[in-house]
Amino acid sequence: MSKAMPEVNGHLCSLDAWDTFSLVKSDLGIKINLNFNAWDFTCDNLVGVASALFARLGLIQHLKISEREFMLFVKAVEAGYLSNPYHSFHHAVDVCVVIFFTLIDLGLGARLSTKDILALMLAGLCHDIGHPGVNNMYQVNAKTELAEAFNGVSVLENYSCQLTKNILEKHRLLRNSEPDVEECVMEYILATDMAFHFSKVEELNQLLLEWPQEGQVPRKSRRQLCGTILHAADISNAVRPWPLCKAWSDMVINEFFQQGDLERRNDLPVSPNMDRGCSSQAQIALDFDAYIITPFFEALASLFPDSKVFLQHLHSNRKRWTVLNRKLSALPSPLLPIRRVSFSAGTVIIPDSFREDTKSSPNNSLPRGARHRRRPNSLRRDGCPTDKVRPFSFIARIPSTDSLEHPVLS
Ligand SMILES: [Zn+2]
Repeated sequence: MSKAMPEVNGHLCSLDAWDTFSLVKSDLGIKINLNFNAWDFTCDNLVGVASALFARLGLIQHLKISEREFMLFVKAVEAGYLSNPYHSFHHAVDVCVVIFFTLIDLGLGARLSTKDILALMLAGLCHDIGHPGVNNMYQVNAKTELAEAFNGVSVLENYSCQLTKNILEKHRLLRNSEPDVEECVMEYILATDMAFHFSKVEELNQLLLEWPQEGQVPRKSRRQLCGTILHAADISNAVRPWPLCKAWSDMVINEFFQQGDLERRNDLPVSPNMDRGCSSQAQIALDFDAYIITPFFEALASLFPDSKVFLQHLHSNRKRWTVLNRKLSALPSPLLPIRRVSFSAGTVIIPDSFREDTKSSPNNSLPRGARHRRRPNSLRRDGCPTDKVRPFSFIARIPSTDSLEHPVLS
């Protein structure tokens, strides 16, 4: 399916985890970059891909264990993921690929220690393990056992931490590592809760002020950067080349609507963006871009200019979503004062200050977090209105997924 590696892809079905491991480890045929399409691979292949990324980063060597032992650990992690439309092992490995790209191609790894990178990659691999395909809001509203177990706080992230801890201990993966590696893995997984998104943007802006241009980076800042990289990779669908951006969005929407259906069947309030009768995929994507993705990735680009590559994809994808939105949304968007919105990684509550900020500054279409030093002006030239407040909107006429272009998965 991948156009980038037809000669390899033609044989993928006959490749096992070891074959794939060898190809990726040797950087032969399977390219690890933003065009990487996890859906070209079986779960077994992806065990090999993920293991090879760790090998290329010197992490298996750092763990002082054999490649076979490490691959058995990854296999156990894979078995812990459910086959949800979006929150699957494919998503986990995709996140690891984006982390790898950020560390190597964008050079962020040069400012981190091997131990930092180990914790970051482990967190990326395990961050959604056990995800049941319905989000934290559902867990709390449905009063599930998981919500009860974790007192309704970061329910799925705490659950993933618990499962990760069990697998790490069962495989004694960190027996030769420093004791705080596991603590960092847990910290980074917990930070993937979208409830922390806005504090992450603030943190990133703070890092911008404190980040040393050269020399050693303080430990606290390195940990913050690791949390930031994982969060960036976790929400990176919107900043990938369009075919991947669209395909992952289709999967998110599919999972959302399944949750909405379940909520309706169980007489629960249907979560924002999850009612298949009155949600627009393109509008969700545009809102996500404007309020979540753009401020975050602009802040990242201010700190690490090479990460502007994400913004270039974002800009191009926004044009595509705008065209789709115009085509598919016959009805005008009602201006609803909604504070809770759902995105792939969870539900976000838009802070009042964030919204007030947009209201009081008519010349700024983007929230406060988006306005910081060195923002490229070109980012404002999109299809979205730039001179008025545009609250999140949930509009009618969702197209059937079949009618949409599906360039990657077809
Ligand atoms: Zn995730």
